[in-house]
Amino acid sequence: MANNEDQFKKVISHAKEYGFIFASSEIYDGLSAVYDYAQNGVELKKNIREYWWRSMVYLHQNIVGIDAAILMHPTTWKASGHVDAFNDPLIDNKDSKKRYRADVLIEDYAEKLNQKAEKEIEKARKRFGDNFDEAQFVATNERVIRYKTEQREILERMARSLDSENLADVKALIEELGIADPDTGSKNWTEVRQFNLMFGTKLGASAESATDLYLRPETAQGIFVNFLNVQKSGRMKIPFGIAQTGKAFRNEIVARQFIFRMREFEQMEMQFFVRPGEEMKWYEYWKETRLKWHLSLGLGAENYRFHDHEKLAHYANAASDIEFNFPFGFKELEGIHSRTDFDLKAHEEYSGKKLQFFDPELNKNYTPYVVETSIGLDRMFLAVLSTSLQDETLEDGSTRTVLKIPSILAPVKAAVLPLVKKDGLPEIAQSIIDSLQWDYNVVYDEKDAVGRRYRRQDAAGTPFCITVDHQTKEDQTVTIRHRDSMEQERVAISEISEKIHNSISYKAWLQ
Ligand code: ATP
Repeated sequence: MANNEDQFKKVISHAKEYGFIFASSEIYDGLSAVYDYAQNGVELKKNIREYWWRSMVYLHQNIVGIDAAILMHPTTWKASGHVDAFNDPLIDNKDSKKRYRADVLIEDYAEKLNQKAEKEIEKARKRFGDNFDEAQFVATNERVIRYKTEQREILERMARSLDSENLADVKALIEELGIADPDTGSKNWTEVRQFNLMFGTKLGASAESATDLYLRPETAQGIFVNFLNVQKSGRMKIPFGIAQTGKAFRNEIVARQFIFRMREFEQMEMQFFVRPGEEMKWYEYWKETRLKWHLSLGLGAENYRFHDHEKLAHYANAASDIEFNFPFGFKELEGIHSRTDFDLKAHEEYSGKKLQFFDPELNKNYTPYVVETSIGLDRMFLAVLSTSLQDETLEDGSTRTVLKIPSILAPVKAAVLPLVKKDGLPEIAQSIIDSLQWDYNVVYDEKDAVGRRYRRQDAAGTPFCITVDHQTKEDQTVTIRHRDSMEQERVAISEISEKIHNSISYKAWLQ
């Protein structure tokens, strides 16, 4: 665990040192759980957003995008259930004065049981080698059965208690399991209380006439209220989807995991409208499609897993998370939810407007069902950054820090480096920049020895370094040095652009 914590600390300090992420308003000591994206961070974030948008919108002829406002009519949040039910159960430790989410404390406890079971399975796998039958082992080994049963029972009881608003039982469960404050070990807990996560604000000039509004806690509702507008103006036929990326705001109780849990964050959501009764087919389709998208980036299949929900939100009839192996363990990266017709029906009821679709094949009107895919852009950023950051020991015994960001997402695609600051080499390097900058984000760097410049670009995740040397003047070739393999090749200046293009073509990555 210590190693993972070290890795997480390294990610945070690397993010700052190399211009990815700064604490918000840092000169005033920052604002809790709010962050700014810096010069490299903004590029990585933009590239992740683009990678998502292209795969969801451009590669699906029946999906279109919108960009709805952050501020919405306040009744939206009545209809969606957020005013009444967008709560987290919180609990305070009386000794440490620290505040926690009661459900997260219990889930972490249950996850430890799961890890114990996994350890037993791993041990057995080593013992039995090729003959190991995992399914049989899990079904018959007493310890594994005990751990898994206990884990399931705990999660089921928590789900029941939260569903029935029995907060006293949630507290009882924490006490029965002997869960202690993870920071101090104290078991001196307050009652469990519900806490609404929406940020309020006001619209209007004077205090008397102002309307109470909320900053949107999710982007999805901007899609639902526009369902009919988009369907009509885009002549969309069911099944079809509406995608959107944008800021969302939640007054999170516990927010101490860097950009994993922020109070202002960005979501990339897609609501897919389907015929009632066909939602499970599409739910499975989107689970598979979204996992494929993640795997296309090559961060390692072992770093992803599905977690099917026991406790369903008030709007869902099936839900699963894609969890990612962050430096602090497997946690939710994306949610795939079958939201039924809950949202459209609720908006019909509150607005008095019909939000239905006339299906020419069935010759009838109905309220579509919805399957949603919802991923946090910042969490995806953290997944990419934390997995890409690696310390390598090289053949000569020295070490290098390298960010092996998938090249399609890399903030800077190439750095152009004149070997020396004289003999006309800077001018040639500049002319290469002049031609590449139309298509790619490229940088020029002439400071320090070339080896140090390579390391600097490694640490920023730049996949290509293009070095201009004296030979360039004679034969119009440069050295391209590859970030991951550190291999160098001699390439004609006229071929550089194609080389970069081949490595960052959406077709190659997404197909
Ligand atoms: P969690 O259980 O971690 O609080 P959630 O289930 O409330 O997340 P959803 O409402 O399903 O999250 O939101 C969809 C996605 O938005 C999440 O999968 C996550 O990637 C992202 N997200 C949600 N809350 C935050 C946050 N506070 N900071 C950053 N990303 C977030």
